[in-house]
Amino acid sequence: MSYQVDENGFYGEFGGAYIPEILYKCVEELRQAYLPVIESAAFQQEYRRLLRDYAGRPSPLYYAQRMSRKYGCRLYLKREDCNHTGAHKINNAIGQILLAREMGKTRVIAETGAGQHGVATATVCALMGMECEIFMGKTDVERQHTNVERMRMLGAKVNPVTTGNMTLSDACSAAIRDWCCHPSDTYYLVGSTMGPHPYPDLVARLQSVISEEIKVQLQDQVGRDYPDYLVACIGGGSNAAGTVYHYMDDERVRIVLAEAGGHGVDSGYTAATIHRGRTGILHGSKMLVMQTPDGQIEEAFSISAGLDYPGVGPMHSNMAKHGRTQVLAINDDEAIHAGYEMTRLEGIIPAIESAHAVAALGKMTLLPDDIVVLTVSGRGDKDVETYLKNKEMAKEYGDF
Ligand SMILES: *Cc1c(COP(=O)(O)O)cnc(C)c1O
Repeated sequence: MSYQVDENGFYGEFGGAYIPEILYKCVEELRQAYLPVIESAAFQQEYRRLLRDYAGRPSPLYYAQRMSRKYGCRLYLKREDCNHTGAHKINNAIGQILLAREMGKTRVIAETGAGQHGVATATVCALMGMECEIFMGKTDVERQHTNVERMRMLGAKVNPVTTGNMTLSDACSAAIRDWCCHPSDTYYLVGSTMGPHPYPDLVARLQSVISEEIKVQLQDQVGRDYPDYLVACIGGGSNAAGTVYHYMDDERVRIVLAEAGGHGVDSGYTAATIHRGRTGILHGSKMLVMQTPDGQIEEAFSISAGLDYPGVGPMHSNMAKHGRTQVLAINDDEAIHAGYEMTRLEGIIPAIESAHAVAALGKMTLLPDDIVVLTVSGRGDKDVETYLKNKEMAKEYGDF
């Protein structure tokens, strides 16, 4: 059995393309185009060149000595925070903008939560000279205002979305509505392993450069090309997909994912989709979704705007269902504490999303020889205000 997508766009029972009639043509056009384009020599050459010279890849694999000592293992950090624009999102955005150009599209739309995907999209649109519109929940526009300013400076139009609880899920719905109104000239640049097939597979392939590099870097640094554990945070699932892609069918490698517990899995204020979700359809795909008994989508809550989504992509819904991944729910206060800890032990301020992965280390049983690779999905510059506002959650680091 493989955890890869099948030829119909399904991961086990999850995935597929559940879309309104009006989008059928664009999704089908994308499905037919994506593999021939991204596997072509011309695409690969330009994609690799931009990853290297523009995004700054390969991202370092850094042996974190002080944290290794603390957790009693050999901890390596995969530094996606070092990428241009500050997170793993740029890997996907570069790939999809090349695909959009190849498909003759002239206008690009995207949804964003924390604003990282919006910034990555606005960045590649500036790079290619393409028109760009970003949909972002009004709540997120307020709590991530520096990213909004970056997008505007890059020339994108930012549309605050005022439906629902005004966060990522509502931004996705607004982007899909816009796409329905402009199906022929517009490319929808989806930011995570979600949406109708082929998006989850497309995004996973474009992010798989993360595990491709981990293989080479581990071989180089520890003499074997696989770790005992991979650890990543999970919202829609793209940095986790990239981290596990070349290992998902390798049972020697255990996979631990951290989703956002919010105030607690049972508190009613959570984004712990894999813990709380049931099979349903959201934004064009069958996946685990948090929903009421009669199927209304529930609102997700997390201190981190990037994990604040009531669903989780089909690849991860399937792996979790079959026990391939161990999924931990990390609460807001645990993430903030872990963010301070990494900052003080390693001098790396992680994005609050990534801090959820860091907090997972404290819940794992590790042996001194275990090689653990943890993906730091992004940098915490955008979150400094939130960290400072919640510093009482990390009291031991002193009054500052
Ligand atoms: C967007 C984002 C995430 C969550 O998205 P995934 O698709 O699950 O990776 C995590 N970390 C950072 C820094 C992000 O910007």
